[in-house]
Amino acid sequence: MSHLIKLIFNGKEYEVSSGVLKNVVKELGMNSKIVGGKIENKIVDLFYESNDGEQIELFTIDSPQAMELYRHTMAHIMAQAIQRLYKDAKFAIGPTIENGFYYDIDLPEKINEDELMRIEKEMRKIIEEDIPLEHFVMKSEEAIRFFEEKGQPYKVELIKDLGTDTMSIYRQGDFTDLCRGPHVPSTGLVKNFKLLSVSGAYWRGDERNKMLQRIYGTAFYRREDLDAYLKMLEEAEKRDHRKIGPQLDLFSLHPDVAPGMIFFHPKGAVVRRELEKFWREEHIKAGYVEVITPMVMNENLWRRSGHWDHYRDNMYFTEKEGQAYAIKPMNCPGHIMIYKTSSHSYRDLPLRMCELGTVHRYERSGVVHGLFRARAFTQDDAHIFCTQEQIESEIVGVIKLIDKTYKLFGFPYKVELSTKPDDAMGSDEIWEVSTSALKSALEHLGMEYQVNEGDGAFYGPKIDFHVRDSIGRTWQCATIQLDFLMPERFDLNYTGSDNVEHKPVMIHRVIYGSLERFIGILIEHYAGAFPTWIAPVQTIVLPISEKHVKYAQKIKKQFEDFGIRTEVDGRSQKISYKIREAQLKKIPYMLIVGSREMEANSIAVRIRSGKDLGSMKTHEFIERISEEIKNRYQKSIFEVK
Ligand SMILES: [Zn+2]
Ligand SMILES: [Zn+2]
Repeated sequence: MSHLIKLIFNGKEYEVSSGVLKNVVKELGMNSKIVGGKIENKIVDLFYESNDGEQIELFTIDSPQAMELYRHTMAHIMAQAIQRLYKDAKFAIGPTIENGFYYDIDLPEKINEDELMRIEKEMRKIIEEDIPLEHFVMKSEEAIRFFEEKGQPYKVELIKDLGTDTMSIYRQGDFTDLCRGPHVPSTGLVKNFKLLSVSGAYWRGDERNKMLQRIYGTAFYRREDLDAYLKMLEEAEKRDHRKIGPQLDLFSLHPDVAPGMIFFHPKGAVVRRELEKFWREEHIKAGYVEVITPMVMNENLWRRSGHWDHYRDNMYFTEKEGQAYAIKPMNCPGHIMIYKTSSHSYRDLPLRMCELGTVHRYERSGVVHGLFRARAFTQDDAHIFCTQEQIESEIVGVIKLIDKTYKLFGFPYKVELSTKPDDAMGSDEIWEVSTSALKSALEHLGMEYQVNEGDGAFYGPKIDFHVRDSIGRTWQCATIQLDFLMPERFDLNYTGSDNVEHKPVMIHRVIYGSLERFIGILIEHYAGAFPTWIAPVQTIVLPISEKHVKYAQKIKKQFEDFGIRTEVDGRSQKISYKIREAQLKKIPYMLIVGSREMEANSIAVRIRSGKDLGSMKTHEFIERISEEIKNRYQKSIFEVK
């Protein structure tokens, strides 16, 4: 019997004897840039020993699939450089992350900017040396001895915890690491990288353990991709909502008083209210009913919902009159209580229940991050109770709502469908029916989507939406999650047309995700320059001198009668100074008034971008800006048309 594998490269197929990929590729005299292959969903490197009958799609170092290998190798090169420079370095873990890699290291010396440069220099040397990588398997006891001798206690602990008989080891010259791979075959194959920052990280993420130094780096095959990424990081730093938010007086954080929670100032509250207003309008149009449920509910409810078993560590509890209560981490059980107050017939379904529900979830202090990761946040939540036959049309409805919302902010988005995992509950039939309902909903709308096989929750398949912001970062916001478990646990029913009781399907869904986080994303997406309809201050009247202040006040009053949020800068500052300040506050329109404007009952209009529109009759401007606000335009109506 022959031992054959099938290699695919550049559309050609090769049937060859199995073996270590490196040798197979070499014997065939294939492209020397080949660094690895894909077997179904698994990425392997050239050290992979192929099995009979496998089909391997090969890729070269300049392909997207190679980035994992590229960055993994870079992490090893960084560790090798550190080993050369600091004799006492103890290595913990060094994985790849989106766009880069890091390594957690125990070092007596504090790594600063200068040290990062020194490490980078040593890394360049290692790349220059073009050291070949080797891969081998070691018996675990032997590996423990090896790393003990090297003074690497973290590696020893990792091996002991893994508890397997053998360990996968990679070596490049004088550096040996415990690693599953994959890597490129030689240090000379990687080039473009940059070390970014150092931060503290507890060993195994546990604050009772020692704090290690985590060094972050990024790497790309192409120089221009690395440069573009570094530029994006720079831009992201400028747009950091934790900086812009307080600057624009939108919100503040008080970690000493309420860690991980947000204090919205009047201006931030306006932004939030506008988002809520749009949300309400659209949900009413889409046939939702709004509910309001309690923040604190009996612990027994959370036992029944399963949160007690699976989510207790992230919940806040309180107790009164000998009864234990939990602060809600999710809105679903509250909505279920309402569903259960009456009996339902198939004619009443679907029932679409929505709530701007504030939830509390404990997050470790190390991971809370401004508006992006808070301990209290408000979900734009809804639960749809429907029959199996209604799943598809309900999903179509939710997706249309999501699409409308994201278009409003100019967010392109990507869709991912996660299917049945191994530990799924519920019959094969219901999974089959519901997953194909999700698929046909997406296809019905002509949407492209990626399938994540086996990535669904154990209680149902889901669809995730990832928006792309103005500087190219992606954020997961909306999810649509089917749930067969809650209706079982809470014994939800409806009477079908056959007069028999059935279990409804429950669809959990959010569109913004959390209002706090979405506002954070918007601040960074717009760099604080919100479209007029969301802008906390929409126009500012700037009197040229003191004698124009009264006229400015009159204009403000007039604008406010039309619901336009207006301020007056009546200080006796130079007009150029006032314009500059209004620009820094990112106010969409500056209305300059002097004697000429006063006489003609007009205003001189300037847009935030710096464009001068000249004089305009007040009522004419009111008409245009009202149209812009009402239609929630993304750009100034004067710039669009
Ligand atoms: Zn590795
Ligand atoms: Zn829910």
